[in-house]
Order: sequence, then structure tokens, then C-alpha cells
Amino acid sequence: MAVQQNRVSKSRRNKRRSHDALVAANPNECPNCGELKRPHHVCAACGHYDDKEVVAQADEIDLDEDAA
Ligand SMILES: [Zn+2]
Repeated sequence: MAVQQNRVSKSRRNKRRSHDALVAANPNECPNCGELKRPHHVCAACGHYDDKEVVAQADEIDLDEDAA
């Protein structure tokens, strides 16, 4: 087991932890559907990126297409 060589003071511990806070997400509005989305990411709601549909949505896929 590793044993610490020096005790870390409350001040030094707290100064180290001053950088540990989580940063809130910064969502943008999707230009296609208006849903909030992560910047530089495909919209999770409509699958659009840069005004183009790049990911087909599940409700748009016709499962009966090759059934016949
Ligand atoms: Zn969208």
C-alpha cells in the first residue's frame, strides 16, 4: 500500500479541488427542429447537422421496404 510522505493541508487540498467543479453544458438551438443540442454535434432529436440530415431517424425508416 502506498503511504503518503507528507500531509496535505486543508488549504492545499482545497486549492487543488478549486479546479474540480463541473462546467455546465452550453447547448445551442438546432436550426432544423429548434431542440437544444450540443455545439458541433449532430442533433439527437432530428439527426441534422449543418442543415443536412446525416442520421436517419427511427420513425423515418420503412421496415417493410424489403419484406416482399
Ligand atoms: Zn434538430
